Amino acid sequence: MSDSLISVVAPIYNEGAGVERFVARLASVMGEAGLRFEVVLVDDGSSDDSWSRIAGQALLDPRVHGVRLSRNFGKEAALLAGLDHVSGDAVVVIDSDLQHPPSAIPAMVHRWQAGAQVVEAVKRNRTGQSIGNRLSARVFNRAFTGLTKVDLVDATDFRLLGRPALEALRRMPEHSTFFRGTSSWIGFTRDTVEVDIDHREGGASRWTMRGLFRLAVNGLTSFTSAPLHLVTLAGLGFAVFAMVLGVQTLVRWISGGSVAGFTTVILLLLVTGTFVLIGLGVIGEYLARIHEEVRGRPRYLVQERVSSPVPSSPDSWVVEQRAER
Ligand code: UDP
Ligand code: MG
Repeated sequence: MSDSLISVVAPIYNEGAGVERFVARLASVMGEAGLRFEVVLVDDGSSDDSWSRIAGQALLDPRVHGVRLSRNFGKEAALLAGLDHVSGDAVVVIDSDLQHPPSAIPAMVHRWQAGAQVVEAVKRNRTGQSIGNRLSARVFNRAFTGLTKVDLVDATDFRLLGRPALEALRRMPEHSTFFRGTSSWIGFTRDTVEVDIDHREGGASRWTMRGLFRLAVNGLTSFTSAPLHLVTLAGLGFAVFAMVLGVQTLVRWISGGSVAGFTTVILLLLVTGTFVLIGLGVIGEYLARIHEEVRGRPRYLVQERVSSPVPSSPDSWVVEQRAER
């Protein structure tokens, strides 16, 4: 197994100068560990010079391959694109901003060689994230874990998948995927390694509040219909409440007293209105998902690919330091 090929997939969105830094760091880590590897850099429709830098790296180094998506499809789609272009015996998915330390890869590979099919890197810390981000991630992960039984607490997208696990994952046809969830859902022998998430090197997080919200909603709706059941439950709760209040109001009216009118009406309107709208919203989210899946559009489109023109000969991976290139 020692000469197995490890594929590394890294999505790149406007990382610019980070591209070379990432490849150099990865090459030096893999070189030191004596691991044979290839890296697939997926340009997720960057608007800066990321693609030309990726192409440059790919031409210099036969182990580097570039895939350019036709526009920004989002990190999840970029990951999928990468996974569809790997040829290794195991694939490691990692962020290209060096927040996921490449130095953890050898440990992940060892776990894989020891028999695990899915090796997750779990966070020991959360430096490099704002309090707000940390809090919302925590709330979301707890809610997700509670509702779906797929454990996301302290999970990251930094994972290693063995070939069988990768093929299983690729068989999932969903349009809006949620890598963290699907790679847990598939099962397989699992193991974890602990990593320290570093500060981002260069630039700010590429996520917008809106993007994160969509990710959360997609994640939830693709894994559970619990929110729909919650709407039903809330409806039932309101039915009981309505009965009690209705009877009470009637009794009061018959016995001649009357309820304080205006305030009650306003309150009832506000409360019911809110619940009805939230209920509709929840249903709408599922409807949107169905619509998306039914349309069946491709999950990503590739504009071009670049690999070194020299086919990588069996010994082109000979351990060498490329860090200072
Ligand atoms: N990314 C991407 N497409 C996007 C947003 C992000 O490919 O639309 C990539 C980005 O280049 C990086 C990784 O996803 O390699 C993680 O992004 P980021 O660091 O912005 O997210 P965070 O670390 O804050 O979760
Ligand atoms: Mg990051």
